[in-house]
Amino acid sequence: MNDSASEQPAELLARLRATFRAGTTKPLTWRTGQLHRMRTLLTEHGEDIAAALRADLGKSSYEAYRSEIDFVIREIDHTLDHLDGWLRPEPAPVPAHLGEASAWTQYDPLGVVLIIAPWNYPAQLLLAPMVGALAAGNAVVAKPSELAPATSTALARLLPRYLDTDAVAVVEGGVPETTALLEQRFDHILYTGNGTVGRIVMTAAARHLTPVTLELGGKSPAFVDRGTDLETVAARLTAGKFLNAGQTCVAPDYVLTDPETARALEAALTKAIEASYGPDPATSPEYGRIVNERHFDRLTALLDSGRQVTGGAHDRATKFIAPTVLADVSPDAPVMQEEIFGPILPIVEVTGLDEAIDFINDRDKPLSLYAFTESDTTRDRLAAETSSGGLGLGLPLAHLTVSDLPFGGVGESGMGSYHGRYSIETFSHRKAVLAKPLS
Ligand code: NAD
Repeated sequence: MNDSASEQPAELLARLRATFRAGTTKPLTWRTGQLHRMRTLLTEHGEDIAAALRADLGKSSYEAYRSEIDFVIREIDHTLDHLDGWLRPEPAPVPAHLGEASAWTQYDPLGVVLIIAPWNYPAQLLLAPMVGALAAGNAVVAKPSELAPATSTALARLLPRYLDTDAVAVVEGGVPETTALLEQRFDHILYTGNGTVGRIVMTAAARHLTPVTLELGGKSPAFVDRGTDLETVAARLTAGKFLNAGQTCVAPDYVLTDPETARALEAALTKAIEASYGPDPATSPEYGRIVNERHFDRLTALLDSGRQVTGGAHDRATKFIAPTVLADVSPDAPVMQEEIFGPILPIVEVTGLDEAIDFINDRDKPLSLYAFTESDTTRDRLAAETSSGGLGLGLPLAHLTVSDLPFGGVGESGMGSYHGRYSIETFSHRKAVLAKPLS
């Protein structure tokens, strides 16, 4: 077994590339074998990973399983169920001028893939892309986030015990280690994180003409229409926004609604938050913590960006910030200038759908757009007149649990996508083949 921790990036790449060149990773049996082993790792060590997630983010066990461990198991199972079919060559019609001939496309693995993960879902966002990269027949270098150190250590310890270390390596570390990796030539890089580092990754990749998938973030709006059942809306907004203490890339970032609905929604959200986390969320076992002091300080500076409807309590020693709703928030307020990525939900008032659409289109294309409405016309207009990575009608976050939907952003929220068969598209080259008999 190789110790990738002591290897220089160039040596590591040479070793993994040699494995790929030898054809080790191409057979379907190798690919499915790796997925089965990752599944075994997750079932045998789910508790270790959940403990690491608790240490890094105060994640409850329920959240750790639902949004990370079981999430990846579902992705593995879906891939195992369908991989054979996804990889099947697809015949293409041959034009008459070629006479007797046949044509098809086949999926070729790319080679050695680099996956760089962030801290907020540090297990899911490292492992789910790995499922696709391995299923597509690639060797993989996985770089967990240094900002979730317990999860990084756990995965660096466990993955080599289960996966083929000739083809899969985990490299821990921060900026210097990632920078050193990015100097190497990879065949694809999937980066999840913020747009500033996304640009660094893309610049480094450009030197080698390496294709990139950038899974970025941004401010995902939630439009609440007049006349919707606000009890349901508030419960679903609360579940989507305050999961992982708001540190979710697809969390509803802010609410757009008319003044009258805003007033009623304030009361409904206050009730829904209390129903989920009790009168004192600091004591709720289901409620997470902010990842570090830097983010805690950034978030508490946003707490007076509007009128506090509920929440506002915070404690630096435990990195606790209560689920907070802010009303009467101006589009110019500090909380509206950057992705919040924390448990603060501003309500911004608009006159109605037209202004909401303009508000969305005046800003960067979001990773997700959410809408709560009973009106088909409103749904159709939002779908047709705005652009976002995904669109959630009536339910935040859940679209990314549908394995047959691509997960990815557009514009500032990213490029490319993955999950299910879209991971095969991302981590393969679709080769065009033409065959004409010689006689
Ligand atoms: P982070 O700080 O953990 O960074 C992500 C990765 O980039 C880490 O592995 C880190 O080591 C590496 N990195 C940091 N600085 C670097 C540099 N200068 N050069 C090279 N590599 C570097 O995570 P983050 O960026 O704070 O994550 C939060 C952001 O990620 C939010 O914007 C969020 O919306 C977004 N996000 C997107 C998704 C998605 O799937 N689209 C998922 C989660 C988070």
